[in-house]
Amino acid sequence: MAVETEGAPSVTGEPTSAVSPPAGCVVCAFVGSSLERRMFFLFAEGLGESWFVDEMGRGGFCLRHARHVGREGGSRLTGAYRHVVAGWRGRLGRDEAAREPLPALGCPLCETETWAEGHALWLLAGPDHSRAAAALGAVEPLCLAHLDRLLDLEGRRQVPEIRARLVALLERATTARLGLEEQLTLLIGPDPDQAIRTAGLGGLAAPPDTPSTSWSDGLLSVEGFLAELEIGRCPACTGSAALVRRLLGWLAGPDLRAEDRRELEHLCAGHLRDGLAIAPLAAERALAATLGRWVGLVERLPTAAQLPPPTLAERARRFGQHDREERARRPERPGPLAAAGAAVGYVAWPGAIIEELVARARAQRTHPCVACNVMIGASGRTLDLADALLVAEPAAARYRASPGFCLGHAARAVAVLGTQARFTVHATARARIARQLWELDEGLRKSSWSIRYEPRGPETRAWIDALVLVLGEQVRSTDLLTPEPRGRVPAA
Ligand SMILES: [Zn+2]
Ligand SMILES: [Zn+2]
Ligand SMILES: [Zn+2]
Ligand SMILES: [Zn+2]
Repeated sequence: MAVETEGAPSVTGEPTSAVSPPAGCVVCAFVGSSLERRMFFLFAEGLGESWFVDEMGRGGFCLRHARHVGREGGSRLTGAYRHVVAGWRGRLGRDEAAREPLPALGCPLCETETWAEGHALWLLAGPDHSRAAAALGAVEPLCLAHLDRLLDLEGRRQVPEIRARLVALLERATTARLGLEEQLTLLIGPDPDQAIRTAGLGGLAAPPDTPSTSWSDGLLSVEGFLAELEIGRCPACTGSAALVRRLLGWLAGPDLRAEDRRELEHLCAGHLRDGLAIAPLAAERALAATLGRWVGLVERLPTAAQLPPPTLAERARRFGQHDREERARRPERPGPLAAAGAAVGYVAWPGAIIEELVARARAQRTHPCVACNVMIGASGRTLDLADALLVAEPAAARYRASPGFCLGHAARAVAVLGTQARFTVHATARARIARQLWELDEGLRKSSWSIRYEPRGPETRAWIDALVLVLGEQVRSTDLLTPEPRGRVPAA
């Protein structure tokens, strides 16, 4: 869905309205205002629209956005979550033997964020990708991530301009003696989830947060699995949360040597923020590693003097010097064909040379987020444990008596577990869905003015229970807000 941009933070460097310029990264601010706008129109007129019903049937909101929307809408979302739960019933199927791949799911508000980010960067770069150099000065500072994204969109000639701005931003962040929070805001933008790190909002969070004790400090075990089932939490969700807490706590250890943590201190923007909430020292150490990776990138980005000259004649004249510099940098001699190709490339396609330099520089900071990998690994190991345990009757009976996995993990389990374990997970999920749909229907029925004489009961909380059913207990957490990713996530 298109979102109007009038009145939003200016990403063109031109004043658009009486709105004062935002303090932080203008692209991050544009994404935030687009999200607010989308939610405003959703609650004003969108809840009954067919496109919204369709989006809910495809899986509903992600963990972060479920909390954002829950804070604004509360029980007004009862009807929306009925579509979400009914959608999951359809995806799980009637027959547990049907191992059909799940259709792609997408959170509509994540789509809004992706659209807004791309649109803001496109406006900033200008339709012909020529405007950013002029506009950047008016909208600085962009955060590091968005300066980096401009490298994709920018006219190749502006790489040195962006390099200089990256250098200035890194210097500012490291020499200005900023607090950790301010440093993070400068480098990765303001926390988009600040508003939902509050306990008790819309009945979502149970204050205070109650992290799992069954997994005893991050130890995955049979006892922990059964204990989590006993207290009604999805063991895959709480297992991955427990291991992330363990990692962050370990990174914040008082006597941890730099060489011990070198491989494990790489966090994505979401986990840097979560780290700040749970273990500030872990966030501080990971931020230092982040800065180191950015410095490595900047050192390898070309300066204006290193770019091929703009005119063909000048490039032909300078080729000899460029060739000598390349040979000095690379000790191995290229073969005659490769050398001829490089010569023609330098003279005829200077853009390709610049792209290669940028790609080489970027390789210096490529690292996956360790905490995201921990989440993927922990939930995978929990599903493996279910596969091993649910073939025997005592454990299967305990599973059936519990709420079992959240629907996200149940769907994954149905796709990967062995026949017997799959049957148990599938039947439990179907039964839970049926009960939840009844509660949601009851919530909708009780909202009618004509039956105002009936007492109100648990159905008023049906929308929260539906969220926990679909997304797991984490939806009630106020500190670990980063959802389990489906694949590797780059560190910030
Ligand atoms: Zn930004
Ligand atoms: Zn989302
Ligand atoms: Zn789960
Ligand atoms: Zn992460």
